Amino acid sequence: MTQPMPQEVRWVLSTLNGAGFEAYAVGGCVRDTLRGVAAQDWDLCTSALPQQVRSCFPGVRVLETGLRHGTVTLRLEGGQYEVTTFRADGPYSDGRRPDSVAFVPHLAEDLARRDLTVNAMAMDLHGGIHDPFGGQADLANRTLRCVGDPDRRFQEDGLRLMRCLRFAATLNYAIEPRTAAALERNLPMLDHVAAERIQAELSKLLLGGNCAAVLREHPAVFCRFWPQLAPLVTLEQRTPWHRWGGWEHTLHALAAAPEDLTLRLAVLLHDVGKPGSKTTDQAGQDHFYGHAKLGAQLAQAMLQALKYDNATQQRVVLLVRRHDVPIEDTEKSVRRWLGRLGPEVFFQLLELKRCDAIGQDRPHVPQRLAHIQRLRDLARQVIDQGQCFSLRDLAVDGRDVLAAGVPAGPAVGRALGELLDQVISGALPNERQALLDALRREEASEPS
Ligand code: ATP
Ligand code: MG
Repeated sequence: MTQPMPQEVRWVLSTLNGAGFEAYAVGGCVRDTLRGVAAQDWDLCTSALPQQVRSCFPGVRVLETGLRHGTVTLRLEGGQYEVTTFRADGPYSDGRRPDSVAFVPHLAEDLARRDLTVNAMAMDLHGGIHDPFGGQADLANRTLRCVGDPDRRFQEDGLRLMRCLRFAATLNYAIEPRTAAALERNLPMLDHVAAERIQAELSKLLLGGNCAAVLREHPAVFCRFWPQLAPLVTLEQRTPWHRWGGWEHTLHALAAAPEDLTLRLAVLLHDVGKPGSKTTDQAGQDHFYGHAKLGAQLAQAMLQALKYDNATQQRVVLLVRRHDVPIEDTEKSVRRWLGRLGPEVFFQLLELKRCDAIGQDRPHVPQRLAHIQRLRDLARQVIDQGQCFSLRDLAVDGRDVLAAGVPAGPAVGRALGELLDQVISGALPNERQALLDALRREEASEPS
């Protein structure tokens, strides 16, 4: 089922055609359209040189940032469109970018520089498909295949390894064996790719429905930029709690995770501290004391290496740090954890715990899942009933505490914290008068 080309794209193509140039939609948008999926962005290519493209669109605002590479960005009402002159890439000497690009007269040469056959198709104004490398057949067979010699293509640009795996994860396509073998042979090419680019591809990959299978098939790729993963990939764990080794456990957990990048990163990294904290007792059983703490440290370094933003780093590290903490299924304990983490993190933690349990695949799992469900229900109840679990909810504030005679300064925060503690534990009701009375009692008994 072909999605129609947007009106604006048709207008750009027909304008260029009208001026005597070839022009096509190309790459991802053609792939997605042929898959019957709405394209995210429409990239266009043309035989017109950049200046010629500009003069075809006199009234249109253009961005010239990509001009050196032949790209003119047209800013139209419905969005912006990159129009790139047919080009061939010169030699690659840095393993990432061509040393030079040359404008070329023919579409086929432009398609030849693209990474995968499914990404190397063009569509003309009338919906005609130009497909010199068998992209449609590969699409039909759900296959990812490099255009040309895969070794050479990966050696030109290491980012292509990650792109290939990303598409395998998101499209759930198989990597054709020669392409897969070349990918594994060219892992060192990843060293030339900027951390931000790896991060961007990894994030898309992890959100893919097939990410666990890709990680299972190609762990060495991930260990190349995250060497801290390697010991987890081979980790055996002899405990009654686990059916699988560290890596399989992680992948089963990952496959159960919702489509949320923070959570998927947390699931992927939650046990990364296990290899470094493994001990084996006399009965031959393995233990991993302190693995969450060690894992949090490793996760921090790994996320930092890929230049994840601070908010993502902090959240993932916090989740890894706490993934193993026992939480009692009582209102009191749930209030305490809600207060400590805040609702959003608390629910994420429960989700991580759920995935972790699913990845254990042992008879105790249903019980563990039921426990997590109870925690979730309790938390909803606590929140829905407006129960107090944070200073914000407390029926008194700093002004009240000062008015009760507590001296300004850190003592105010301490007093509020103590009151909150007692409210969470149920020792005091969250009522203004009761809290003020407690404060006064407290102040009266305090030595001055
Ligand atoms: P997405 O759906 O994420 O946009 P995409 O395939 O469109 O996927 P883009 O980064 O938008 O990816 O690139 C557009 C097109 O440019 C690709 O379809 C491909 O033809 C080509 N391309 C992009 N990156 C590379 C690369 N590293 N090597 C070769 N060709 C590439
Ligand atoms: Mg795209």
